[in-house]
Amino acid sequence: MIHDWNRTLWTDLASTAERLPHALLIHGPGGIGKRALAEHFAQFLLCEGPTTECPCGRCEACRWFVAGNHPDVRWLEPEAISKPVAIEGEEADRAGSRSARPSLEIKVEQVRALADFLNVGSHRGRHRIALVHPAEDMNLHAANSLLKSLEEPPSGAVFVLVSHRPARLLATIRSRCVALPVGLPERAGAEAWLRANGVADAARWLDFAGGAPLQALEYGSGPRGETVTRLLNTLLAGTTQGAATSDREEVEALAEVLQKLALDRAFAAFGAEPKYATGSSAATSASAYEWLAFARAMGHNRALARHPLNPKLFASDMLAAMPA
Ligand SMILES: [Zn+2]
Repeated sequence: MIHDWNRTLWTDLASTAERLPHALLIHGPGGIGKRALAEHFAQFLLCEGPTTECPCGRCEACRWFVAGNHPDVRWLEPEAISKPVAIEGEEADRAGSRSARPSLEIKVEQVRALADFLNVGSHRGRHRIALVHPAEDMNLHAANSLLKSLEEPPSGAVFVLVSHRPARLLATIRSRCVALPVGLPERAGAEAWLRANGVADAARWLDFAGGAPLQALEYGSGPRGETVTRLLNTLLAGTTQGAATSDREEVEALAEVLQKLALDRAFAAFGAEPKYATGSSAATSASAYEWLAFARAMGHNRALARHPLNPKLFASDMLAAMPA
């Protein structure tokens, strides 16, 4: 279901669907509903109901789509997103050995399978739709393979790419797509939406999420937010010992907390308002530039933290590098 703050954008997109591009690139910050928008667009193209209320949600095509088994749709996502980790773990246990963690990349095999699917022709005489999310997670082989399909699209094929970081895509892929930028929603509406979804501290989490409501919802309604609060309290109390976690999930949260804390301290040192509501005080002896450099390193670490590593050592290294 499309989010309220993207309604206007959706209306504009739907009104131009007659002159539909064969490739659409929906891009913008994470946590603002781009994936839902891509899904809605795909359902819109496949809906077989009345054109006045498309997607209708009631026709056979819509019901298949919502159930996730419409034959003319394929999702290209890294295994780590599409495949629940718990199931992988169970299989590994049953096999009596530890298998590899699910891939964080979209692989070339996935794109080749997609090309086969697109070349077969539509089951329902309409479009065949390929959704790629997030497009920047395609490795280079996968991206080059997708480019071939984009350059010579089979008739009826529609590509919908979703990207949080379009600058990381091949320029040749970007140039083949019609770009649809999605911005952060307006502040008051996003806060109201969060409160309606049971987030008590809506303003604080929206700040911490950089204005992205879906991310703020995740912090404000789940264990991730509790971890963030505990790490922040530890760090703000001037100790790093309790923050040196050996938990893999928590290492990623730690990198994020350190990055946002550092940015707030850099803003404070520049005499600006903090942005991420980390509760950090301005009084540190390190300069704004030292905090910015550290924040940049932590941004890099957030990506690294998803890969196999020794969590305890990784956490300790990050904490040791923190400016005083
Ligand atoms: Zn329908």
